[in-house]
Amino acid sequence: RDGAKKFEFQAEVNRLMDILIHSLYSHKDIFLRELISNASDALDKIRFLSLTDKSVLGEGSTAVMDIRIWADKASRQLFIRDRGIGMTQEDLVKNLGTIAKSGTSAFLEQMQKGGDMNLIGQFGVGFYSVYLVADWVEVVSKAPGGKQYIWASGADGQFTVSEDEGENEDLGRGTLIKIHLKEGEEEYADEARLKALVTKYSEFINFPIYLQATTEKEVPVEEEAADEKSEKESEEAEKESEKEEDEESEKDEKEDDEGDVVDEEDEEEEEKKPKTVKQNVTEWEHLNDNKAIWLRKAKDISEEEYNKFYKAVSKDYDDALNRIHFKAEGDVEFKALLFIPKRAPWDFYDNIQRAKPKATPGGTASAGLKLYVRRVFISDDVDELLPRYLSFLRGVVDSDSLPLNVNREMLQHHASLRTIKKKLVRKALDAIKKMADDEAACNADDSSDDAEKPTGDACKAFGTFWKEFGRALKLGVLEDDNNRGRLAKLLRFYTSKSPKELTSLSGYVSRMKPGQKTIYWIAGMSQDEVARSPFAEKLVAEGYEVMYLTDVLDEYVMQQLTEFEDFKFANIAKEDVDTTAEAEGEDKEAAAKAKKEAAKALKESFKPLTSWWKDLLGSKVAGVKLSKRLSSTPCVVVASKWGQSANMERIMKASAF
Ligand code: ADP
Ligand code: MG
Repeated sequence: RDGAKKFEFQAEVNRLMDILIHSLYSHKDIFLRELISNASDALDKIRFLSLTDKSVLGEGSTAVMDIRIWADKASRQLFIRDRGIGMTQEDLVKNLGTIAKSGTSAFLEQMQKGGDMNLIGQFGVGFYSVYLVADWVEVVSKAPGGKQYIWASGADGQFTVSEDEGENEDLGRGTLIKIHLKEGEEEYADEARLKALVTKYSEFINFPIYLQATTEKEVPVEEEAADEKSEKESEEAEKESEKEEDEESEKDEKEDDEGDVVDEEDEEEEEKKPKTVKQNVTEWEHLNDNKAIWLRKAKDISEEEYNKFYKAVSKDYDDALNRIHFKAEGDVEFKALLFIPKRAPWDFYDNIQRAKPKATPGGTASAGLKLYVRRVFISDDVDELLPRYLSFLRGVVDSDSLPLNVNREMLQHHASLRTIKKKLVRKALDAIKKMADDEAACNADDSSDDAEKPTGDACKAFGTFWKEFGRALKLGVLEDDNNRGRLAKLLRFYTSKSPKELTSLSGYVSRMKPGQKTIYWIAGMSQDEVARSPFAEKLVAEGYEVMYLTDVLDEYVMQQLTEFEDFKFANIAKEDVDTTAEAEGEDKEAAAKAKKEAAKALKESFKPLTSWWKDLLGSKVAGVKLSKRLSSTPCVVVASKWGQSANMERIMKASAF
């Protein structure tokens, strides 16, 4: 193409395209889902802009917000056109080739590990999936008020961008994707196949999608056509119709005589038949009824519909683990349909450990909850909607209480958003608690109310949840002062009494020794290491349960919790653990006194050793003391009550944060 500028794809994008174009993946049709989803995103954007500036929509047919799909089987071409926001020349260069999103390399890594191609959209590189079926793609695009440009590539390492000088129709606004299908992928130019696929992928797209369909139809021969015929012909036709009329009036009379009035329809048909012919007609068939599922009543929505919607909104290909569908009333009104995925989004733990999600030029790859105001999509990246630790939730929030005609920044700080957030968090934690309760009910021994017991997946849901999102709840304990108590109840750990099955803090409390007032824990690298620790051995020997904390977050969590249901927590690797305080009965005081005296005497008798040792080590240690906690290990190095524990020191050194 004359005057086209050539560009090299960014290296990782290039690798990705190379994999896609040579892929033998068997569900190539996902490309259509990705392109429809991009068209829908682009329409969301222009609709949002039009709230504050109506002129961006243009006039006449340009103002219509829809998606149209058509194909030409003979030339193996497929076309998808939207009237969305379009792309400028610079957008085309950046968005479709030169900027790698954080998802690009993450997706490549997943693919290398045998991950599913299906997840491509979640990684924010969905567009390139078109090369699963195409060997040449052109993207014709026009942003409001700009010129029309053509992006083109055969996935051979480079692409071109040039001004469209009349090569394609003027789009007015939006994007036309012209796909040249590879040999063997002709099925994607087949109308019946396209109809099935578009229906499958577009059910929950909020804009009308039309497919051009060819059907054989009886079409009336138009009057004008008759006029064009030679006069002679029309004269003949006139005569004929006169003749017909005569016959019919005769018939009418006859029928009237018989008093039968039923045959009216037959008469009409006889009259029409000669005026129609069979013809191939192309028509735009509307394939989705763009319904907002979250506005409907839960009881009217089938499991299948929920799952389809989840997949559309999350770009996941698996069903959701759980869903939360509710309506909030009062000062702030909104409807919400949230889903808990079965697996953590790929960038979830990357993002929540940063103060703010990574700001890549292409935006965050896996978008979060979608915020709508009165059915108009506003953003899927509103920080104020959910706390970070719950940002794995997917779905939609639609509010009537937010203003429509403000920009996103103003919306982010709207007071109603705080109320919405609070309610979303509460509902989400309730749903998680319900999963935990169901699991507990499944495991309970009592057979009294078997009929009420949850079964099947409901019994396993919390286990799956904990595996994927347990760390998110721990981060919640660190961050969410208002819900710390609720979150603590949801935490799970291994302990000396439950080394293989995760247990809750209330589980620990239920197994406490009579009079025990402290929850003991020890943190380290592995369960094996902490179980063999000399700190734990004496307590365990005395029958106390010790929590084995092996996640780097656990020690931070314990610092935040300090107590649970009036029980204090104690890190047994620190110096002041003394189980005598736990003894019960009248002789408690006497026992303590006797113990104290014995300890004093012992301390005196060992003074020569401890002083010698302290002198030897000097400032390397704070002190050398006799231990009351060891049963078979001769000596240990411990952290002081107010000092950093060894485990914490290691975590800080590794600078996990
Ligand atoms: P994602 O949609 O997750 O951002 P894609 O690879 O599907 O990732 O698309 C990359 C980018 O290209 C989009 O973010 C968008 O900026 C741009 N884009 C793709 N298709 C269109 C379209 N039909 N209209 C406008 N922009 C588009
Ligand atoms: Mg996309």
